[in-house]
Amino acid sequence: MTAVKLEAGSATDVGLVRSNNQDKLLVAEPLYAVADGMGGAAAGEVASAIAVQTLGEQLAYKGGLLSPDDLVEAAQAANRAVWEKAVEHAEMRGMGTTLVAATVVDGPRLAVVNVGDSRLYAMRHGSFQQVTVDHNLVAEMVAEGRISKEEGEIHPRRNIMTRALGVEPEVKVDIFMEDVDPGDRFLLCSDGLSRELSDERISAILRRLADPSEAAKELVHEAKRHGGNDNITVIVLDVVPDPAALADPVTTSHQAVAEVPPPQSSEPHLATAPPAAAPPPASHQRQRRPSPINLRVAAFLLAFLAILAAGAVGVWYYARSAYFVGLNGDSLTVYQGRPGGVLWFKPTLDHVSKVTTAQVLQASLPELRAGVEEPTVAAADDFISNLAKLYQLSRSAALPPSTIPPSTTTTGSVPPTIGPSSSTTASPPTSS
Ligand code: MG
Repeated sequence: MTAVKLEAGSATDVGLVRSNNQDKLLVAEPLYAVADGMGGAAAGEVASAIAVQTLGEQLAYKGGLLSPDDLVEAAQAANRAVWEKAVEHAEMRGMGTTLVAATVVDGPRLAVVNVGDSRLYAMRHGSFQQVTVDHNLVAEMVAEGRISKEEGEIHPRRNIMTRALGVEPEVKVDIFMEDVDPGDRFLLCSDGLSRELSDERISAILRRLADPSEAAKELVHEAKRHGGNDNITVIVLDVVPDPAALADPVTTSHQAVAEVPPPQSSEPHLATAPPAAAPPPASHQRQRRPSPINLRVAAFLLAFLAILAAGAVGVWYYARSAYFVGLNGDSLTVYQGRPGGVLWFKPTLDHVSKVTTAQVLQASLPELRAGVEEPTVAAADDFISNLAKLYQLSRSAALPPSTIPPSTTTTGSVPPTIGPSSSTTASPPTSS
C-alpha cells in the first residue's frame, strides 16, 4: 500500500453570460468539493456556500483519515443546513445546490459523494471517464436507453434536475469508491465546464498540462472560449506519493485536519482552506492507520523474498532447461540438466540409448565423458544417432577411426539410409 496524498489546482469563473457566480468550491486538504447553486436572486449563491461550508465544518471535527460514512453524513448535514435556511427565509424558498465532494480514505481510496449534475472524472491508465452519475432528467433518459447520449446533449430539458441538495429535508447521497495510485488525476467540475467542452477536449487539456493549477485555469479559459454560458468551476486533483505520511503519520493527520476550514463564519462565502480547528486525540488516529514503519519493513521483506524467489527460479530454469549426452557405463545416455549440475540442481537421467562406446569413434569419448549439451531430447538423440552413423561410415570407408572428428550438433544432416538410433527409456535413477 502506497501512502498517497492529493495535490490540487482549482479555478472558478462567472463565465460570459451570468451576472453572479453561484458556484462554490472547497479546497481544504484532504477535502475537495464543488457546489453549483440554483435559485432566484442570490439564493443559489447562498445554497452552494452553505453546502460547502457545512461540509467543511462537519469534517473538520473528524480525526485522522475520513471514512466514506463521514462524507455521506456531512453531505446530508449540508442538505439539512440549506433546507433549514430556505425554510427560515421565504425569499430563498426553492433554492438548492449540487454537491460533488471527494477525499482520500483508508485503503487508500478516493471516496466521492454526489448529488446533482456536478461531476467527478477519473483519468488513469490512459482512460478518462466520468465516475459520478448526473441526477438530471436527460441523464436518466440516456441511462435508461430512451435517448442516445448525443440526443441528450442537445435535449431541451437537459437542465431539469432530479435530485439536488437543500430542496427536501432529506436527500439520497450517491457514493463512489475509486482506487488511487500515484499518477492518477481526478477532476471535479460544475456543469459550466461539462456543457461547454466534450470529454475528449477536457481530457486532452488534462493530459497536456502537468501542473494541476495550470490545467484548472486552462479548462476554465477553454470553457469561456466555447461560450461561457454558465459559471465554471473546476478542481484538478493529482494523486502523489506522501512521504510525510510514511515518516510520521500522526503529524500528517494533524496537519490534514488542521487545513479543513474552521467551523465558524458569519457569512457563507467561497471556502478556500483557511487554517485552524483543533486536532483530534493522537490515540484515535493511531487506530486509524497501521504503522508505516511496519509497512516499510514488510515491503522490504516482501521485495527481498521476491528477489530471492526470482533468482532461484532463474537458476532452476538455467539448470534444467538443457540436456546433454554423457556416458552411463558403456552406454551413451541422455541427461536433463547441465553437465556437473548447477548449484544444488543436479542433472537427472532421461534415458539410456542402445548405442555403446564400442559403436562410436574413440575420438568422441573424451567429450562424451565431459557431457555434450543439446537443447532438447530430440537433439540429443540425433547427436547419438549421428555418432553411430559416423562410426559406420568410417568403417565402410575404411578410414582410420581416430582421424575422424566427432560430430557435435549436426542434427538431421546425415542421410536417412543409415539406421537410426534406438533409444529406450530407462528407469530414471536420478542423482540429486
Ligand atoms: Mg451550473
